[in-house]
Amino acid sequence: MADTSALYQEILLDHNRRPRNYGPLVGATCVERGVNPLCGDELTLWLRMDGDIITEAQFEGSGCAISRASASMMTGAVKGKTRAEAEVLVERFRGLVTGHGGAEELAESMGGLRVFAGVARLPQRVKCAVLAWHTLHSALAGGEKP
Ligand code: ZN
Repeated sequence: MADTSALYQEILLDHNRRPRNYGPLVGATCVERGVNPLCGDELTLWLRMDGDIITEAQFEGSGCAISRASASMMTGAVKGKTRAEAEVLVERFRGLVTGHGGAEELAESMGGLRVFAGVARLPQRVKCAVLAWHTLHSALAGGEKP
């Protein structure tokens, strides 16, 4: 499995170097900030909601490669999803990185996000990986207006 790990690592590093959906979102309907004090990761997440659908998601933040790559991929994954679909992804991602709830099956349904499955073997990095997703959850639960 060494080859797969190397590939996954490369994907993570690429998202860290060139994060997607990066920068303040013009016309955002909510904004939420997240902090992981254990590692020093910080991020701001902007969403534009059209009724129940997340039409745009962007973030800005500083922190470790895992937290930035996670935010980069999360914002891409939730665009076009309904609030309920996004909440399901939050739960699945949490299951994936904590190694609970059938990681194989979860990874299968999550496409590119499966690169984070390896985090389950790095318990001290789980909070880095889930930061963006916790922030998304808070935003959906009623984030501040920008
Ligand atoms: Zn971190």
